[in-house]
Amino acid sequence: MEETLRVRVIGGGLAGCEAAWQLAQAGVGVTLHEQKPEKRTPAQTSDRLAELVCSNSFRSSNVDNAVGLLKEEMRRAGSFLMACAEVAKVPAGDALAVDRVIFADVVETRLRAHPLISLVPGEVQCLPDDDVTTLVATGPLTSEALAKDIARLCGQERLAFYDAIAPIVDAESITTDDEDPQGGAYFKSRWNKGDSADYLNCPMTPEEYDVFYDALRAADLATAHEFEELHYFDGCLPIEVMAERGKDTLRFGPMKPVGLFHPVTNRRAHAVLQLRKEDIHGSSYNLVGCQTRMKQRAQRDVFALIPALKNVRFLRYGAIHRNTYVDAPTVLDAQGRLKARPSVFFAGQITGVEGYVESTASGLLTALVLIDQLQGRALDVPPPTTALGGLWRHCRGVLRAAGNTAFSPSNVIWSMMPPVDAVPVINARGKKQKPDKAGRKKQASERALIDLDQWLGRRRQEGRFVGAITKVLVAAPEVTTTGAATSSATTGGS
Ligand SMILES: Cc1cc2nc3c(=O)[nH]c(=O)nc-3n(C[C@H](O)[C@H](O)[C@H](O)COP(=O)(O)OP(=O)(O)OC[C@H]3O[C@@H](n4cnc5c(N)ncnc54)[C@H](O)[C@@H]3O)c2cc1C
Repeated sequence: MEETLRVRVIGGGLAGCEAAWQLAQAGVGVTLHEQKPEKRTPAQTSDRLAELVCSNSFRSSNVDNAVGLLKEEMRRAGSFLMACAEVAKVPAGDALAVDRVIFADVVETRLRAHPLISLVPGEVQCLPDDDVTTLVATGPLTSEALAKDIARLCGQERLAFYDAIAPIVDAESITTDDEDPQGGAYFKSRWNKGDSADYLNCPMTPEEYDVFYDALRAADLATAHEFEELHYFDGCLPIEVMAERGKDTLRFGPMKPVGLFHPVTNRRAHAVLQLRKEDIHGSSYNLVGCQTRMKQRAQRDVFALIPALKNVRFLRYGAIHRNTYVDAPTVLDAQGRLKARPSVFFAGQITGVEGYVESTASGLLTALVLIDQLQGRALDVPPPTTALGGLWRHCRGVLRAAGNTAFSPSNVIWSMMPPVDAVPVINARGKKQKPDKAGRKKQASERALIDLDQWLGRRRQEGRFVGAITKVLVAAPEVTTTGAATSSATTGGS
């Protein structure tokens, strides 16, 4: 790569640090702009780069779990931050948890020591309008001035400041009317408009609705951060706030039964919760209008009172929190560049992924895409069967079920990958049988890792860049008496 190539990265959080490292490893000069120490987001408490603002966990490491698979793929693809996390690891069962101080110090020390990275402190208030390729990774709490400028370029309505998401549940765990003709969910679109296969309807009798309503009113709510004093729009109220307004508010809102007569009995239920197909594979459904602040346990308990959801498994819980993100499928192109200004790429949580691991993965992928582009190569992203590929496609909007134009941020979930053509397994009695859910996840995970290795192998053969960690990176830091880490050790291998 020509030495003169430079990329500007804005935001020294998880995505920005991962991307800066990978770009520099590919020979690109990086100027990394981070507003700290001059300014912090309301969630930050330190002046370090790559700050973990809440939990110290990167979640499960089990590859039969979607986030565990994502982490394994990132390791194979040479993720810088995953290698730093190994150095800072603390015991946490099957999860990868880190000492956040050591983690941030390892990341920052390595970045500062990299000859191709220069760190520039201070807030960037608007998107630069020059010919330097820029990567915006300013995260869920992007500073106000920059957010305003992004909104100016992509349209006010294409930049969200709050995430009000409804739960997503596993299609297989919904009780349908085949299994329970009275309370089971049935396919039908309201007034038979559109494709009836897109909606499953969960009917409730007056008694069932009363029980559900009382539980909803009594449910435990998650406490908001101080800076999250939410002002709800009327069109996007949390289900519990609607319930506060009166017993029938939901029945005239998201649970209205009109136009949803049962296709066999032709009966009209007292209330109906609609579930909308969430992904093109039909493996998950969204609880329409059920954005909520209920604690996760309460979500499980309250929604299970709806007969069709009595055994339901949550793939993603509902949540409402501060989150700045763009409507990525609309405003970004296939490479993650702002359509209105193609010299500007976006990565991290601002693109509609959620969580530490996913944001880091987004930084890694975007760096690879950007490096390919700088080398004049065509777009080459991981296969759809991988967690990395699924996450990338989620942000492009291609996984949404037909007719679903809304874009909502998400953690990595299995429904981002196509279901496996399950290979029968031999049971205890020596007979062939279809694998259960856990068996299918195992097969999907094996498939993902094989496909990822092939993809990485092909990239190497073609002389494309794959993530690169170096010897010095995996060195154990020296921990000072104050708990802060320094980085003189140089042992370890890549
Ligand atoms: C309160 C809160 C709690 C969370 N808890 C968890 C959790 O427990 N587990 C989990 O997995 N995820 C959690 N998340 C989500 C998590 O923060 C993000 O997923 C992740 O940190 C996002 O990574 P990122 O790189 O996109 O952004 P960040 O890590 O937030 O990094 C963005 C960086 O950009 C900087 N910046 C912002 N604006 C500017 C500007 N104009 N100029 C220069 N620099 C700027 C910021 O200072 C920051 O350092 C939480 C988020 C919040 C807000």
